[in-house]
Amino acid sequence: MREERRDVVVVGAGPAGSVTARRLAECGLDVLMIERNQEIGVPVRCAEGVNRGIEDIVHLDRRCISASVRGARIYSPDGTAVEVESARERVVGYVLERRMFDRFLAAEAANAGADVWVKTAAKGVMKDDNGRVCGVYACHMNETIRIRADVVVGADGVESKIGEWAGMHTKLRMRDMAICAEFMMSGVEIDDEYCEFFIGSFAPRGYAWVFPKGDGCANVGLGIGADVSADNRRAFDYLTQFVESRFPSGKVIAEMYGAVPLSGPVYETVSDGVVLVGDAARQVNPISGGGITYAMRAALIAADAISHAFEAKDFSKQQLHEYERRWRKEFGHHLEIGLKAKEYFLKMPASRMNKLAHSIAARGPVKLKNLNSVSMLKEFIKRSPSILIDLARIMTLMSERKWK
Ligand SMILES: Cc1cc2nc3c(=O)[nH]c(=O)nc-3n(C[C@H](O)[C@H](O)[C@H](O)COP(=O)(O)OP(=O)(O)OC[C@H]3O[C@@H](n4cnc5c(N)ncnc54)[C@H](O)[C@@H]3O)c2cc1C
Repeated sequence: MREERRDVVVVGAGPAGSVTARRLAECGLDVLMIERNQEIGVPVRCAEGVNRGIEDIVHLDRRCISASVRGARIYSPDGTAVEVESARERVVGYVLERRMFDRFLAAEAANAGADVWVKTAAKGVMKDDNGRVCGVYACHMNETIRIRADVVVGADGVESKIGEWAGMHTKLRMRDMAICAEFMMSGVEIDDEYCEFFIGSFAPRGYAWVFPKGDGCANVGLGIGADVSADNRRAFDYLTQFVESRFPSGKVIAEMYGAVPLSGPVYETVSDGVVLVGDAARQVNPISGGGITYAMRAALIAADAISHAFEAKDFSKQQLHEYERRWRKEFGHHLEIGLKAKEYFLKMPASRMNKLAHSIAARGPVKLKNLNSVSMLKEFIKRSPSILIDLARIMTLMSERKWK
């Protein structure tokens, strides 16, 4: 069997994997990133929306941006629109060209010195005599390769297996996942400067989105609770119905499916010789389903912690725990609050949701300093304290944790 030896093997070339690989290579480590698909960034399984915080992490090449947006409109079940904008900037976020974006990040990793192998799937982890992970078994064009490494980074997305193979608790319950269907559509009449979210029975235990892509195109999709999708109707059926009613003359030019983990992060994201990053660690905001920027922020922290492990020549769980500690401190509370808010809103009947939207919309557009789901929640509570008594508990948690 062919054998390779690297300092670090990164499994998965999404944003988490590419940013980790880039930063590790910049630190002078010998890094190999493997990707099971033949083309990085394809298929796109994403609504592609990010807020401007992404620019603190990466320089966004113009080719990676489909549209710049100035706000969001959230429609309650009875169609009441709550408009959310920035109080200080005209552009608050972007709809990415995700295909280009992932490719761009992988190229940055390669340019920094990481090796990148496509069509190479991890099939299992290698363990030493003490049961510690010391590499992966991978398959490339029917050839099995042993890739030895001091650290294995599991950046293998929502279907991640690296953690499970390493003996970590990463299992997702059906009720903690959203199943999504999305269409790339042309010939749709939309406001090109706003991302739109629709809450209602057309997307049970989830929401639908319409994100502008420019030139009369939009990413139109929805996510429903995975337990709902086990009923007779699939996400695709719900989406078809939504699109027929909203864009009867629009044309579907691509169809995509995917799943989002909404469980909140896994209990532990490190083990001896293993680090989980991005969707593999469930670092997704459960209220919005957004995970791109969290994956990239986690990746930078993971790479730092791994390079410190190399300095110390210690790849134990205790040493790698630096990553766990730092990412939880930096944004773990976002995910916790998002989880609580998601559970709260899922229990809210449509009538109450409508009432909430009426009282928020009555005071005009919501203007925020930082446009993110947590600032939004804060403002909703300010505008509608009587309805959101339960959420006030979440606010207390936020301020205890020095919410920004
Ligand atoms: C429908 C949908 C809409 C979304 N919309 C948004 C949004 O608008 N904004 C946002 O911020 N987030 C959104 N997300 C979430 C976002 O896409 C993820 O959080 C983000 O992609 C996480 O990056 P990642 O690198 O961890 O995982 P991924 O991007 O999933 O990358 C994982 C990579 O690992 C590879 N891989 C898996 N297993 C193996 C293996 N065994 N061997 C080798 N390679 C492997 C996969 O092929 C993949 O390329 C959405 C998700 C879905 C499904």
